[in-house]
Amino acid sequence: MINSHAHLDFEEVTGIVENAVAIVPSVGSQNWTAVQSYPYFALGIHPWMVEYHEQQDLEQLEYLIKCNNPIAIGEFGLDYARDIDKKEQLHFFTSQLKLAQRYDLPVIIHAVKSTEDVIFLLKKYPKVVGEIHGFSGSEQQAITLISMGFYLGFGLQVTNPKSTRLQKIVKALPIESLLIETDDHPNAQDLSLVAETIAEIKQISVEKLVTQCDNNAISLFRLQ
Ligand SMILES: [Zn+2]
Repeated sequence: MINSHAHLDFEEVTGIVENAVAIVPSVGSQNWTAVQSYPYFALGIHPWMVEYHEQQDLEQLEYLIKCNNPIAIGEFGLDYARDIDKKEQLHFFTSQLKLAQRYDLPVIIHAVKSTEDVIFLLKKYPKVVGEIHGFSGSEQQAITLISMGFYLGFGLQVTNPKSTRLQKIVKALPIESLLIETDDHPNAQDLSLVAETIAEIKQISVEKLVTQCDNNAISLFRLQ
């Protein structure tokens, strides 16, 4: 079972998740080295961290991408729920999209209250594909992103009985476009719970759901 988005290097997390292979994104220069101890890591600058980064960090990021073969660029994106300079966020977002295009790598996108802008900007880089992790947009936006070759990641949020809107979206989407994740709660039970919930929504076996999500992650991130 592949965990498509897990911050395994955070201090409060102890040990590697059992029975799960994980895609481990970074959030900025502070953990670009730490994430590299995992087989499947991504390098990027999270929108919450843009204030602590400068142009030369983007240059350093490009250097590390060239030398260290990350499986993706991320986590990066746009977060309009936070009071973080929008212009700054947009600069780091487009800069990292350009890197993805230049080095032919998939992207791991954080989009909170910004899905419309994310779609608008992704359309300018039609060769770039990736995962919208922790998807929180509308059903229409989900369909648009899928038509652009993107995969949508769903985590613990979908297991909350109150998340009826999200569950309705999951029900409407093809399983060929879904990924399962735990984000910053990377333990095995949480990932299983997400898989069980989505399987129930889709009325298929957990095994079928997990196999499909694993294949989705393998194909997007070109895992071997
Ligand atoms: Zn994350």
